[in-house]
Amino acid sequence: MPEPRIRILELGERKAVFVLENVNPSIANALRRTLLGGIPKLAIHEVHFLKGRVKDSRGNEFEAVAPLYDEIIAHRMAMIPLPHDPTMKPWKECETDDVTKAGDECVVVYYVEKAGPGIVWSRDLRPINRPSDFAPVDPDIPIVKLAKGQGIMAYAYAVVGYGRDHAKWQATHGVGYKYYPVIEVDQGKCDLCGDCVQACPRKILKIEGERLVVTDEKSCILCDACVEACGRGAISVRGDETRFIFRFETDGSMTAAQALRYALKELIEGFDKLRKEASLR
Ligand code: SF4
Ligand code: SF4
Repeated sequence: MPEPRIRILELGERKAVFVLENVNPSIANALRRTLLGGIPKLAIHEVHFLKGRVKDSRGNEFEAVAPLYDEIIAHRMAMIPLPHDPTMKPWKECETDDVTKAGDECVVVYYVEKAGPGIVWSRDLRPINRPSDFAPVDPDIPIVKLAKGQGIMAYAYAVVGYGRDHAKWQATHGVGYKYYPVIEVDQGKCDLCGDCVQACPRKILKIEGERLVVTDEKSCILCDACVEACGRGAISVRGDETRFIFRFETDGSMTAAQALRYALKELIEGFDKLRKEASLR
C-alpha cells in the first residue's frame, strides 16, 4: 500500500474535515480514539472554596454560599474550555500532587469572587499567576446563579491532562469518520429511468445527457437506497476500506490544526514505542 496521506477538505479555526488515505480501518479507528483521548489539554482540576463571611477586593462583605453544592460548581468550572499552552507540562509529569505547590509550568491558578444577585460567568475566572491570555476561551458560560446575600470566592487550579483520563481534558468532540464512498454505474445496463435519482436522500445523482452521473460522491451516506431503487442492477455502492472521511471539532482550547497535529504525533510515537518493544522480544 502507498504511504498514508491526509487530504484536507475543510479546515476552520475549530473544525476540520479531511480524507485519510492508504490506511486500514484499524488505523482510522486508532486516529479517532487518539483525537478523543490522546491530546494534552488544560482544564480546572481542583477548586478551593473560601467559606463563611468573606470580604472581596473592594472591601464588600458577603456570605460565601451558593445555591449549588461545591462539587457541582467545581465540575462546571472543570468543563470550561481554557486556552492550551504547549509549553506546559502534563500534570502526571509534575513532581508534586499538591496544586498549590506546583510551578507555573504545571498549574494555572484562577481566582473568582462575586456577590449576588447575579450570574457567575466563565469570564469571572481570572488567571492570577499567568497573563490574561489564559482567560477562558468562551467568556459567556454560566457557572452558577447567585441570589441576594449569596456569593462565591474560590481559587481554581488548572492542569494539563488527557481525555482518556477525564472528559474535562477532551479537546475534541464530534469525532467521526466514514468509509470513502465508491459509486459505480454500469452505463450499459442503465436505461436512465431516474428512479435512483429520486431515491437518493443526498441528491447527488443526476442524469446528464445520456449518462447517469454522481455529482458529489463524498456526500454519499452509503444508504443503498439507489441500489434498492434500481431494478436493473446498474448501480453499485461500497465503502473504500483504505480511505476515510474524518470530521471533528474542538472546544476552542486549541485550533483544529493543532489538535490534528497532536493526535498524529501521539499516534506515531505510540507505534514507534510498540515497534521498539516488539523488536526487544
Ligand atoms: S448510497 Fe444513498 S446517498 Fe449514496 S448515492 Fe446511493 S442513495 Fe445516494
Ligand atoms: S435506477 Fe438504475 S437504471 Fe434507472 S437511472 Fe438509476 S442506475 Fe440507471
